Amino acid sequence: MLKKIIAAFLYGVYRMLNPLFQFQDISILTYHSISDATIDIAVMPANFEKHLALLKGKGDAFVSLAQIVTWLKHGAPLPRRAVALTFDDGYADFETAALPILEKFGAPAAMFIMSDAETSRPRLGNDLPLLTRESIERLRTNPLVAFGFHGRTHANVAKLSTEELRTEMARPDNMRYFAYPGGSYSHEAMRIAKELGYDAAFAIKPGLVTKESNPYLIQRNVIERDMRNWEVMMRVTKAFEWYSRLSRWFK
Ligand SMILES: [Zn+2]
Repeated sequence: MLKKIIAAFLYGVYRMLNPLFQFQDISILTYHSISDATIDIAVMPANFEKHLALLKGKGDAFVSLAQIVTWLKHGAPLPRRAVALTFDDGYADFETAALPILEKFGAPAAMFIMSDAETSRPRLGNDLPLLTRESIERLRTNPLVAFGFHGRTHANVAKLSTEELRTEMARPDNMRYFAYPGGSYSHEAMRIAKELGYDAAFAIKPGLVTKESNPYLIQRNVIERDMRNWEVMMRVTKAFEWYSRLSRWFK
């Protein structure tokens, strides 16, 4: 409770200071399922739509992951407030529930999928249906959708040897980005991501993307079912970074 009050206070301070300081806020949000399932990683479609409407209303530009990566690595221009949307695990509701909303807002999205769905399935801790091969092929033709790799079997890469990492993370020809499954990573996994030719790799790590971000450990903020709208909005601002730093003190 105290934590929430502090978070809300910091977000208030941020909103007061923003017109003055014109903060550069570049962020990446991570969703999983967009459905009514009563699990943490499922965000209800109506809430997802509300998130996009609020982001748009705040003046955030929806950009692709590629735009953020080229800004980070090569200094390409990017709007002052930009947010990229990512989806992990490849849940089937991406096509049926999330995509129509993304299309309404013209918001690009990157979907991180595994190649061995059968082995991955029991590791996800839910029984939501995954995208079929056919739906993935269909989605590939959609200009708003990009695919990245989420490992062959959704294994915890922090626990794998160098040789196992090379197998688990082996880069499919048509994919440029890797997202560490469950957010667990190791320095070796980061090194292998680079060695395998990925342009960038993504963590589950709260905070904004800055020019100092490591391209093989890019921050992403997970959005969960029970988050209030302001908690979601706060995650695309500096206020969340202030809060993350403060809450480390409290531990
Ligand atoms: Zn995952």
